Amino acid sequence: MRRSTYFLPTLKETPAEAQIASHRLMLRAGMIRQSASGIYTWLPLGWRVLKKIEQIVREEQDAAGAQELLMPTIQSADIWKESGRYEAYGKEMLRFNDRHDREMLYGPTNEELITQIFRDNAKSYRELPKILYHIQWKFRDEVRPRFGIMRGREFLMKDSYSFDLDFEGAKRSYEKMFNAYLKTFKRMGLTAVPMAADSGAIGGNLTHEFHVLAETGESGVFYDVAYDELAAKDAIDLEALSKLYAVTDEKHDPNDPNCPPPERLKSARGIEVGHIFYFGTKYSKAMGAVVAGPDGNPVPVEMGSYGIGVSRLMGAIIEAYHDDKGIMWPEAVAPFKVGLINLKTGDAACDKVCEDMYRTLSEQGVEVLYDDRDDRAGVKFADMDLIGLPWQLVAGPKGVANGIVELKNRQTGDKQELSVEAALALLTA
Ligand code: ATP
Ligand code: MG
Repeated sequence: MRRSTYFLPTLKETPAEAQIASHRLMLRAGMIRQSASGIYTWLPLGWRVLKKIEQIVREEQDAAGAQELLMPTIQSADIWKESGRYEAYGKEMLRFNDRHDREMLYGPTNEELITQIFRDNAKSYRELPKILYHIQWKFRDEVRPRFGIMRGREFLMKDSYSFDLDFEGAKRSYEKMFNAYLKTFKRMGLTAVPMAADSGAIGGNLTHEFHVLAETGESGVFYDVAYDELAAKDAIDLEALSKLYAVTDEKHDPNDPNCPPPERLKSARGIEVGHIFYFGTKYSKAMGAVVAGPDGNPVPVEMGSYGIGVSRLMGAIIEAYHDDKGIMWPEAVAPFKVGLINLKTGDAACDKVCEDMYRTLSEQGVEVLYDDRDDRAGVKFADMDLIGLPWQLVAGPKGVANGIVELKNRQTGDKQELSVEAALALLTA
């Protein structure tokens, strides 16, 4: 992509309305623009990142055996009346009537709809187990939308739903999703701590919230320091992990036998990026999602639901990866891998080297944003630091005369002077 033609409205000034780093940086880096309170347009740069995050989530869901479908954003109120949640949901639900005066709503979540789909299409225990998911926009009329896309009203969520014949099966599905979540967040460079969100006994509620630790997080959390050691390892030791004390502040109890002594207990702030939940037959009973069991008798299916805040994750990643100059994307979710800076656009030798590198990298499938604008070097450096691509490849007249370019790592700040060939070899490796 050529910077000269790219729709990337970066801002020098810090927008006054943004209170936290990720919100400020997403506005400044030209990734989002607010269209109404808590409702955003995703500009090209932001949209690229959102799609990368979404794709990682998708790959790990698929790897765990979940199957993707797509439910609509608009739902009929009828199914919510069946489950009993139509009244209970309150003002967060955006409700409206269509031209035939039928009550409709913009889905804040999809338990009812997926239960209806399952009920109408699965008849036998032989179709179990199943995990179905979609990645779809949700609307919740939050009282206080804030922190940009972190707490929006319209936001992108991945929500999966599991269907099993009995509790043992439901627990296996839950564990599959639990594992998939840890892998998903890890691939994005995040440590997300699974927090017991409810102390309910086994057989009742089984639920975890996944929190990314960050000073600007909205939730208070307490956890065993051993978690940091476990999380640093490549292989995730679920057994060990599930025994550790980690709770949101509402559940924190210093007298709990599992609570570690003060010197091993960490208190921090967290951003809730995922929430998984086993809820048994709550919806299947209310809505008649019943299959014929092995003995022919009808059995209401055991269900769970598993959400990930796909758009919120972008905010969480930026909270974890930024400095005073801008964003520092982990490569897995970066909008482009390389920012190519031509220090003297118009200089024949510089232009030639840059054009060649741009072409070679693009042909090799490396995503490059080429700053070919006729602008001062300082402006280009500041912009590139702000949008935070992992690598900056810089070509100026002096170096180019000797076949030398500079390669900078945005996260470490390390700079290397290399031949054009060596730089390209590193970036295509
Ligand atoms: P919160 O406690 O932050 O309001 P929630 O518990 O209501 O979230 P869930 O119903 O568990 O949210 O939704 C699944 C995931 O969707 C959450 O873990 C979060 O990452 C994301 N999410 C929920 N509400 C929002 C929002 N208003 N804006 C962006 N992401 C959200
Ligand atoms: Mg939640």
